[in-house]
Amino acid sequence: MADNDGPDQYGVVLYYKYTPIPDVDQLFSFYDSNCNSLGLLGRVRLAPDGVNVTIGGKLSLLEKHIAAVKSNSLFEGTDFKLASCHHPLNDQVAKECGFTSLSIRVVKELVTFSPHPLLKSPEISNAGTHLSAVEFHSVLQSAGPLLEKENPSNHKKLVLLDARNLYETRIGKFKTPNVETLDPGIRQYSDLPSWIDDNSERFRGNRVLMYCTGGIRCEMASAYIRSKGAGFENVFQLFGGIQRYLEQFPDGGFFKGKNFVFDHRISVGSSDANIMGACLLCGSSFDDYSSRCRCNHCRMLVLVCDSCQKKDALYVCELCQKHGKGYGSIPLIENDESQVITQPIKLKTVPSDDTTLSPQIHSRHGKVPSLPENSESCACTGFGRMPLVLKEELHH
Ligand SMILES: [Zn+2]
Ligand SMILES: [Zn+2]
Repeated sequence: MADNDGPDQYGVVLYYKYTPIPDVDQLFSFYDSNCNSLGLLGRVRLAPDGVNVTIGGKLSLLEKHIAAVKSNSLFEGTDFKLASCHHPLNDQVAKECGFTSLSIRVVKELVTFSPHPLLKSPEISNAGTHLSAVEFHSVLQSAGPLLEKENPSNHKKLVLLDARNLYETRIGKFKTPNVETLDPGIRQYSDLPSWIDDNSERFRGNRVLMYCTGGIRCEMASAYIRSKGAGFENVFQLFGGIQRYLEQFPDGGFFKGKNFVFDHRISVGSSDANIMGACLLCGSSFDDYSSRCRCNHCRMLVLVCDSCQKKDALYVCELCQKHGKGYGSIPLIENDESQVITQPIKLKTVPSDDTTLSPQIHSRHGKVPSLPENSESCACTGFGRMPLVLKEELHH
């Protein structure tokens, strides 16, 4: 069914741009007419502070879309990540990744970083210094030995921070012999600020090198680290994220395993076929999320190998296990989406009268969610709506 060659080949494009949007409604109309006329499906999020887009369609039409976007000076310098790929593996993957409809929404903020809605997000203009994939690579390559041999008494060391979630770092991350990779082990992006607060002594006075999938999460998180003031100035981020790095280093370079992506490709590997993940149940090497197995407590994706997957099985992720949630206390959740949505597990309480939390939902295609989008939106970009209670964060 997939067209693998020629102008009809299928593809996805991902891009974001932080910039003040003077007229969000006008941009909404542009996306609405452009994407519909080209038959593109996926998610467009518009906010006063920028745009975040993940859409799929015929490659030739995606190129037309990019050309149209580029003609708007607001998008100067935008990094468009266009990739050819197969069609979604199955309906569930397509649905969860938001590729069964076109959803354009106006949201309050592009990325909701803080779990506390009343706290102001850090200033993007104060974000860390961008490093190209080649620069990032050479810093990692030279850092360790230089610091140890030439400057043993220098307390300034290089800290490598993975700004992604646990289900992403499970299947791939940067690993170098000389620099330790800090993996926050968080379920969602909005847990990152408090993890940074709790671990700030690991950053103070050091050079912090950070990365995420496509760069958008580092913009906010690096600005947050820098907002801590003296001792937190030296923050660098991988521009274009792991995606651009793997293009530059097709053998994976210092990145081991696969890059989790928030479109139906699910993950993207390098030519190095190393499997980093392991089955939650039997521990065998495994890194395929296409079965979409989830923790029954928190709905986070879990890795369960083909032979351990059983119909109606209940899974408990490592974070829930750590917090004492055993198999005995699993709420009985059917694998039926409509039922899952109504289960009040792990929902953050959002006061119903707090209108400041509600994004303007301009979804003209795709259905308006039955839960307010923001019942978990502190945790997400406002991107897409997952059929399950804990939404995925959909970042690049
Ligand atoms: Zn297994
Ligand atoms: Zn869990």
